[in-house]
Amino acid sequence: MAQRRVRAYIGLGANLGDAGGTLRAAIHALAALPGTRLVAVSRLYATDPVGVIDQPEFRNAVTALDVPAGPDPATGATFLLVALKGIEIAFGRQARRRWGPRELDLDLLVFGRARLAIDRPAAGRSIDADRDPARAARLLVVPHPEIAERLFVLAPLADLAEGLVPPGWGETVGSARRRREIAEGSTTVRPIATWDRSPGTWRELPAPGPG
Ligand code: ADP
Ligand code: MG
Repeated sequence: MAQRRVRAYIGLGANLGDAGGTLRAAIHALAALPGTRLVAVSRLYATDPVGVIDQPEFRNAVTALDVPAGPDPATGATFLLVALKGIEIAFGRQARRRWGPRELDLDLLVFGRARLAIDRPAAGRSIDADRDPARAARLLVVPHPEIAERLFVLAPLADLAEGLVPPGWGETVGSARRRREIAEGSTTVRPIATWDRSPGTWRELPAPGPG
């Protein structure tokens, strides 16, 4: 019997080493998850750090995946989160302070029409939680609660799903992106490459000319 699947959007970020190369390899790892189909990849963005600003610029992107729905949304989304945390660790993510530099961050942005706020299993717990007890109490929250505050998520998400109204939102991703761009200015988040499906790598965009 064909497995039921759900459209999920994953936010990717990195700012240590060859961050663009890390995101490329992470996209291949996501595409290789069991029962998963890579549907689309946003442009690659160079973005200014938010919060802790004294650190290298980030690379950010978003992927659309079709993933196994699971027996129910809470189980399906939790299974996917645990898989994301496993990929982070495989890419050498170490415990560091929140907002600080990281090898790879994978966030579950949207999981179909699900709205969830559920307890995490131990395997999905943040590897930073030991250092900051407040974080240990965090739940898996879907849609990710900070999408609307982050142009570095909204811009790549809008590449793939401008007209999407995430569950619980009163507006589209495209309109949230425009609002956030007015608040942050248009230079904090800069597209630098597009995804080439075959062979599955970034193609650099020409640098914008002066003016
Ligand atoms: P951040 O991405 O906020 O900088 P982490 O990647 O360390 O920080 O994740 C923080 C914690 O948030 C994780 O332990 C994870 O279990 C939890 N979390 C809650 N909701 C989500 C979500 N939708 N996607 C990813 N992590 C989530
Ligand atoms: Mg994260």
